Amino acid sequence: MEYYSSQLSKLMEELSRLPGIGIKSAQRLAFHIIHMPQEEVDRLAETMVEARKKIRYCRQCCTLTDQELCPICASPKRDQQVIMVVENSRDLAAYEKTGKFDGVYHVLQGAISPMLGIGPGEIRLKELLQRLQGDVKEVIIATNSTLEGETTAMYISKLIKPAGIKVTRIASGVPVGGDLESIDEVTLLRALEGRVEL
Ligand code: ZN
Repeated sequence: MEYYSSQLSKLMEELSRLPGIGIKSAQRLAFHIIHMPQEEVDRLAETMVEARKKIRYCRQCCTLTDQELCPICASPKRDQQVIMVVENSRDLAAYEKTGKFDGVYHVLQGAISPMLGIGPGEIRLKELLQRLQGDVKEVIIATNSTLEGETTAMYISKLIKPAGIKVTRIASGVPVGGDLESIDEVTLLRALEGRVEL
């Protein structure tokens, strides 16, 4: 990169630190950015800074939000007694898109993975257990059908069942190894409706 001005090299270097951005993509993005109108670059930079500053985890469900309580948890229309447990905010968005679930969510922000050294303490399980102290009718476990997702589902179900709360798992219509977000709404709905008690 020594052929470029030091500012340009610096920009490429910063961009190449982003996930999925190799040297080639970083170069392409950097050239694109320096040719953008100044106000567009300002807006992009400001948006990134503001998002990083303001986005946090919902006090109740741990999804990413810019309020203390996310709009779903804050809505009086949602059934607070039914909690669907998902791995991340993208999975939550996938279920929300179906428009057919009127309960609330709990976002684990990950899944248990002995291989990657992610234990139960590394995901938002403690927060889930705290919520179960309240009035909860059903916990729907909608983690992915990957090894990590299944391990997490099993772990949670063993943890919750002694409390006498109904625990269900979404049906296995969801392709193995498939990310929830890449699955179409009909398949998701079928998985939700065909959930089985654990
Ligand atoms: Zn929330």
